Amino acid sequence: MFSKYKPTWMVEAIYQITPEQLKAMGIKAVLTDLDNTLIAWNNPEGTEELRLWLEEMTKAEIPVVVVSNNNHERVEKAIAPFNLTFEARALKPLSRGLKKAQAKLGLKNNEILMVGDQIMTDIRAANGAGIPNVLVKPIVDTDSWKTQINRFFEGHIMKHLAKKHPEMLWQEGLFENE
Ligand SMILES: [Mg+2]
Repeated sequence: MFSKYKPTWMVEAIYQITPEQLKAMGIKAVLTDLDNTLIAWNNPEGTEELRLWLEEMTKAEIPVVVVSNNNHERVEKAIAPFNLTFEARALKPLSRGLKKAQAKLGLKNNEILMVGDQIMTDIRAANGAGIPNVLVKPIVDTDSWKTQINRFFEGHIMKHLAKKHPEMLWQEGLFENE
């Protein structure tokens, strides 16, 4: 019942995903959620870690595309300092935004990776699209009221998933399962 919310991997932070790990798995592009995955709402400039990570991805020629439910203006403004492409109004948990980003990249499902901090939107959307995905821990604990409600249900779903899949553990990088 909850399998559609099951992340393929759980990695503590997006910065722990390296170009080497991605290349070893044949992944050529990263789709990512914006809020609390890439940047914190209370630190819109992003961190030094983010800048370094994006630099590494650019050097490795791995495009990073932001797929966010926020509107065009908000996303454009938020990522302006980082020179990234994006899909706004992605309608996650629906797959539409992810599919649009994928079509622009022209890559197969197993050549891209979706990264996000919410199983009910990011992971659900990626699973619906058949795209491998990574759940990360939210950058900051505080959330909007809407996200707080989702977090309540997420906690419940995560408990069920953890019981059924004891192998589901937080990792410090992206490694093949088994
Ligand atoms: Mg988020």
